[in-house]
Amino acid sequence: MNIAVFPGSFDPFTVGHADIVRRGLQLFDRVIVAVGYNSQKLSGSPVEDRVAAIARIYMNETRVEVVSYSDLTVDLAQRLGARFLLRGVRSVKDFEYERDLAAVNADLIRAEGQEGLETVLLIADSRYAHISSSLVRELQTYGRDVAHYLP
Ligand code: ADP
Repeated sequence: MNIAVFPGSFDPFTVGHADIVRRGLQLFDRVIVAVGYNSQKLSGSPVEDRVAAIARIYMNETRVEVVSYSDLTVDLAQRLGARFLLRGVRSVKDFEYERDLAAVNADLIRAEGQEGLETVLLIADSRYAHISSSLVRELQTYGRDVAHYLP
């Protein structure tokens, strides 16, 4: 079974993220959305609230699971028996970050004498490439309607 972990902050989970999950389901048997505690980012809502909100979206999709985690993504992937890390790329800026992340994760896997955790990057759909969680949070701060950015 091909299992992919889709890790992120998802603060909040946007239509751009949902599109990556939808397309991931065309490639993998199961997609596990993994909400991480990202020390680098100012967070909006508690991780457990994010997990619950995303799980509600995929209530009827048995191939999607939603979890939280606070360790390294490669350790989570090994725990879950996942051979793929799924990520999205919106821009050159995203690409450089994702490339470094993929390389570091590959180093970690190699250092542990493991094999076979592959990062798969999907290019963001042009309809969603401008959407980021941080922009959605900012609009929410000013009381604007963000419903069209959220699945
Ligand atoms: P992180 O804190 O790990 O960057 P995010 O929740 O911001 O987590 O994003 C998770 C993943 O989803 C990242 O690979 C990011 O590039 C991707 N992503 C974010 N927004 C979009 C979007 N609008 N379209 C496609 N991919 C996206």
